[in-house]
Amino acid sequence: MKEKRSLTCVECPIGCSIEVEVENGVAVSVKGNSCPRGKLYAENEVVCPKRVLTSTVRAKSGEMIPVKTSAPVKKTELMNIMKEIKAVHPELPLKIGDILVKDISDGANLVVSG
Ligand code: SF4
Repeated sequence: MKEKRSLTCVECPIGCSIEVEVENGVAVSVKGNSCPRGKLYAENEVVCPKRVLTSTVRAKSGEMIPVKTSAPVKKTELMNIMKEIKAVHPELPLKIGDILVKDISDGANLVVSG
């Protein structure tokens, strides 16, 4: 049985509205995307949605440090990753791109983002 889903592409600020037809858990038709990135986003979104997670960690000295995952991670793993992030208290100094946790999920690292 086919099911229609409406998505907003988050791959760029344009935010195209995309209609996906899903059959047996797989995208069989994608419409509304303006580029191939949108098609890939929609195909992945209906099977296994992923996002780049952004958060902060508290350094040992008390400062809040912005962090993010170096690649999108499964949305179903976000709570587990947040639990792990809460236990991270790095020492300063740090610079953008420093890896705080290697392979925190799906091969993505937790890195300093700003
Ligand atoms: S489909 Fe392409 S142009 Fe549209 S929001 Fe996604 S990435 Fe941007």
